[in-house]
Amino acid sequence: MAVKIWIAVALTFALSMAGGAVPFQQQTAAPQPAGRWYKGNTHTHTLNSDGDSTPDDVVRWYREHGYQFVVLSDHNFLTSVDGLNALHGADEKFLVVRGEEVTDRFEDRSLHINGLDVDAVVPPQGGTSVTDVLQRNVDAIRRANGIPHINHPSFRWSITAQELQQVRNNRLFEIFNGHPQVNNVGGGGVPGLEEAWDAILTNGTLLYGIAVDDAHTFKAPGNPDVAGPGRGWVSVRAPKLEARELLEALERGDFYASTGVELTDYHATPRQISVNVRATEFSKYRIQFIGSGGRVLQEVAAPSATYEIRGDEGYVRARVLESNGRLAWSQPIMVSSRRSAREGSAAVWFIVAAVGIIRMANRRCTQI
Ligand SMILES: [Zn+2]
Ligand SMILES: [Zn+2]
Repeated sequence: MAVKIWIAVALTFALSMAGGAVPFQQQTAAPQPAGRWYKGNTHTHTLNSDGDSTPDDVVRWYREHGYQFVVLSDHNFLTSVDGLNALHGADEKFLVVRGEEVTDRFEDRSLHINGLDVDAVVPPQGGTSVTDVLQRNVDAIRRANGIPHINHPSFRWSITAQELQQVRNNRLFEIFNGHPQVNNVGGGGVPGLEEAWDAILTNGTLLYGIAVDDAHTFKAPGNPDVAGPGRGWVSVRAPKLEARELLEALERGDFYASTGVELTDYHATPRQISVNVRATEFSKYRIQFIGSGGRVLQEVAAPSATYEIRGDEGYVRARVLESNGRLAWSQPIMVSSRRSAREGSAAVWFIVAAVGIIRMANRRCTQI
């Protein structure tokens, strides 16, 4: 009798291990549904480099247009934000974060890396190749306690997907930049930035995609041929409106990028991703869940959708398409079936052992 119970336990365990309910390994922590959403732009210029407006005017624009934070990121210049925060900052309502666009080059390639909340100005570091220049500047930004993001890779067709992928210790890059000359969607045989993102993710390198204005021109509202404000932003989920909290949330992927779609909620667990759009009266929506190779795993023609993660997708990210061309991008969740494979092989061994015990038991039964 004891043998039969043991067989039943072993078989149940083996079958549960071999079944579809095997948990998979998640390589990154799922964004935790805690905190509030804060809308912000991490890339903006002022008169301190080649912008057309004072820091005060720039900050005022974002404060008056529904943002909760803005990073001033002038070329190779660090604008003090203390006075600006004294004037415009307000608890849980608005925050100015210091920053710099470290502006470097390699031969004819323009290599720009934002340093968010750096302690001090970071001079361009130079280097011996595109990747080397990017890496040296990312490292210098880290040494200055800043958070790096790699800007407009296709501006002057400067950074390929392969070069971007080789940079270490960098988690963020711009998949959308509002400047009219940055070639976000690619062309002439060069893939768009979203396609490059999928190629990098498929190769197993985790990058998060941000959307930014790169605003330079505040005095020509509505002119699509200048780099105006209000075109691309991030919405970050953080415990409070504080620079380090916002930047840490960015680096753990707890945000979405947008060119005009707002989400009411977004949840990602190891088993599912759910997206809910704040639908507007005049728009319709499609929500796509995308996995390895840029493959669309599921598309839902509604403003809310849930995707059940199988475990073999490589990664899963969501994209919302609005009927007037506006977009939102959630951040990828990396998934791997390696543990499933390990557990699958363990299950095979259990089944073999259980079958052996059954045979022995049957033989003993026939003997009795
Ligand atoms: Zn730039
Ligand atoms: Zn810029």
